[in-house]
Amino acid sequence: MIFELPKLPFENNALEPIISARTIDFHYGKHHRAYVNNLNKLIAGTEFENFTLEEIIKKANGGTFNNGAQIWNHTFYWESITPDFTKPSDALIEQISKNFSSFEAFKEKFINAATTLFGSGWVWLVKKQDGKLDIIQESNAGNPLRNGLIPLLTCDVWEHAYYLDYQNRRPDYANSFFEIINWKAVEKRI
Ligand code: MN
Repeated sequence: MIFELPKLPFENNALEPIISARTIDFHYGKHHRAYVNNLNKLIAGTEFENFTLEEIIKKANGGTFNNGAQIWNHTFYWESITPDFTKPSDALIEQISKNFSSFEAFKEKFINAATTLFGSGWVWLVKKQDGKLDIIQESNAGNPLRNGLIPLLTCDVWEHAYYLDYQNRRPDYANSFFEIINWKAVEKRI
């Protein structure tokens, strides 16, 4: 299968001032695109040529896993954020509160996970096999599908996601990220 760069679900300047057009141009136009090009080169003539992205995430290792997971993670990240202000529904707030004691506690825990993840990676809100929600940190290209978890929301904390706009202030990026979360998408994924 030849993988293609999915279309960005908003204009490159739509998330300003939280995420600048310049960041999107590099992040989507260079980084995300490079993962797609790299994966297509890596899988040519291998057993992975006919795999879906999810199968690659679950079964591949090394560069094939890294590039495949990064394609999936970025597509999921773009779909996790929106310029249209959304609010979690009462039902979602209740479900989150049940799992993290309160919505505020969830928000604090998620931002703390984004802030404390050492190096490059992703913070995820996931649903576990038992239906409970959890926040996990994954390094580099890490993806929860590999461990049988259902991804609900992700924040990219690689420096390329925020450095042009926030420099070393990752906590500011993580806080601002909360203003552009696409809660409708999270709700659909649950
Ligand atoms: Mn990224």
